[in-house]
Amino acid sequence: MKKKIISLSLAIAMSFLVVACQKKDDAQTSTPQTTTDDSTEVNEDTTTEDEEPDKPIESTISEDKRYHTARINGVDYSLTVDLKKCDGNTSLEQIETLESLFWQVYPKLYERFGYYSSAPTDIELLIENEDYEIACAWENKVHIHDMWLHDNPEDFDCYTHELAHLTQNGWYEDYLEYDNYIETFADYCRYLYAYNNGEFNDHVWTLQTVDEEDSRETSVRFLVWLDNELSTPDHDFMYDYYVACSDATHKKDEWDKVWTSLFKGTSMEGKTIDEVWDIYAKSDFAHLSTETKEPGQSELLKKYDVRKYVLHK
Ligand SMILES: [Zn+2]
Repeated sequence: MKKKIISLSLAIAMSFLVVACQKKDDAQTSTPQTTTDDSTEVNEDTTTEDEEPDKPIESTISEDKRYHTARINGVDYSLTVDLKKCDGNTSLEQIETLESLFWQVYPKLYERFGYYSSAPTDIELLIENEDYEIACAWENKVHIHDMWLHDNPEDFDCYTHELAHLTQNGWYEDYLEYDNYIETFADYCRYLYAYNNGEFNDHVWTLQTVDEEDSRETSVRFLVWLDNELSTPDHDFMYDYYVACSDATHKKDEWDKVWTSLFKGTSMEGKTIDEVWDIYAKSDFAHLSTETKEPGQSELLKKYDVRKYVLHK
């Protein structure tokens, strides 16, 4: 399925924070699957002497507020689902799936990326009938329109995209090679961290080929390739990329130096970013289909285990 991308203009402008809206996917017709409950994936085996033991998810539920807390790998998280402006178009089952997605996805994003820049750990999810089309995120809040999952019942991973924005915790566009790196990083996270290994995501949203996204400014797949090609158990390339974007030390026209530094110690050391792009563009990775009926079964995923960092960690 080809996706149709429509950029959204934002009603909310905040100069120093990431404000990010969703790209629009084609409307979906499938029925969402049964959700998992809140008892998932609290790792109790990582306690050290200095660390408080992990705590399973505890929930307090009322009509318009659902509050959850847990400690995972020594980090205290809370999720508040605010339903005050929800008109009930998002079903309870869909809300429970969003909550389950949060506990599966956000701690992993936080541990790998968000911890570095003190991203929030007390997160609010507001499901509302307001003046935006799909979803947006800033500070510690994700807003999802009450009609979005009603009309697109498999697009839960729009939440994954927005949670990735929260881990960015304010990237300055002046210090990114392209403003769009804010969005390509969130979509890279969406693809890698997609709920239940893409159970929903891979039906409704996927990576474009190099023919469709033909530059590093727009390509999400290029980031997935860089991660797969250059990250090793001892060297997390995408963490270094995240740090470079977060630190805001180089202006747009100085990013050649950033790329040179990022490639140091990798198999691409000594190459320019344009040379690395050319290697990517000629690879089969840049062209293999990501379309699939079953999660993990696309041509790309059958050949390249790009979600290995997420799934096997
Ligand atoms: Zn976004």
